Amino acid sequence: MTLLVACTSATTPVPETAHDAIVESEVAHEADAEDAILDIDSVEIDEARLKLDVHPLDGWTPEEIREAITTNPAALGSVSFGTPNRGALFNGVAAEASHLYELVKPDDAWGTRETIDYLNAAIRKVHAAFPDTPPLRLGHISAKTGGRLRPHVSHQSGRDVDISFYYTDDSPWYARATKKNFDLPRNWAFVKALITETDIEIILVDRSIVNLLQKFALDSGEDPFWVRSIFRGFPGQQRPIVRHASGHATHFHLRFYNPIAQETARRAGALLVEAGLIKARPRIVHYRAKAGDTLGGLAARFGTTVEAIQRENGLRGTTIRQHRTYRIPVVGGAPTSEEAEAANQPLRFPPRRLPPGVRIAETRRRAPPNLPCRRPIPCH
Ligand SMILES: [Zn+2]
Repeated sequence: MTLLVACTSATTPVPETAHDAIVESEVAHEADAEDAILDIDSVEIDEARLKLDVHPLDGWTPEEIREAITTNPAALGSVSFGTPNRGALFNGVAAEASHLYELVKPDDAWGTRETIDYLNAAIRKVHAAFPDTPPLRLGHISAKTGGRLRPHVSHQSGRDVDISFYYTDDSPWYARATKKNFDLPRNWAFVKALITETDIEIILVDRSIVNLLQKFALDSGEDPFWVRSIFRGFPGQQRPIVRHASGHATHFHLRFYNPIAQETARRAGALLVEAGLIKARPRIVHYRAKAGDTLGGLAARFGTTVEAIQRENGLRGTTIRQHRTYRIPVVGGAPTSEEAEAANQPLRFPPRRLPPGVRIAETRRRAPPNLPCRRPIPCH
């Protein structure tokens, strides 16, 4: 599937006329996210690593989670709710300016604890290899409580990061990268660290940059099979991590998996919505119209309103066309049996895609310091 644009220039708001394109890209992204999280090919699952993983809420009963939500919601740690294109952030962490990066948009640089930690870890790796490295410029992550962050479609759940390239000159934020100003050794070190040191999901960048990085990796003697899996993938088996997205010749768009904050959302999200701490946004059900369907009938069946369906599909009238697929916004409602099944299973994430000979020394996760210590969480 062609990956559609995940974010647009921070200086160019998306015009209203682009609404259809945004709706389309949301569809594509939701499908992507589902593929990535729920439909992982068994080949991709590293069973040994899964067994090592622990979650800070392991051992908590639903009553204990409910109690924490009432008395000390901070104890849950960061929660990445929903999808990057339709989500929310709870207990977010603000990125802080440092020698690693300057903040271009300090008010909208809120991520999950994992997102901020992953970003810092990868950049520190660049500094370790190149001690005189200047700070990057950090753009948008998410708003403090997530949700829509203009002009983006994504950036809603604390897992998306817009960050500058390393340049060979003093190019400002959002300068277009060229072969001349793109600092290949540092940018490749950054991309490699994101892949080997973090749970990165995708790195979006313009095709011209994808090609520069790929060639540099091969010229540097990186394993060709690994390089191919990173930049090209294997059709039907493995998607590339570094992917082309138009509008991204000026910055990297990173998206991290958050094995903790996304799993916390699965376990505590419904309770947080119930407590009014996360604003539930409707989820979209794609429905192909059959003969005899009416707008009123669909609204009643999905527990929504005629106006909401009209708004979601840009409909002026009440005509429903047979065989056309409509987006039906649904808040709550009985899940399908497949959804119920998925909601009962811990989320599964692909193993890190490491070059040959590189191993993760210790993947066991630790509870954040403000959490009560419970087995089997390693204590501080
Ligand atoms: Zn972005």
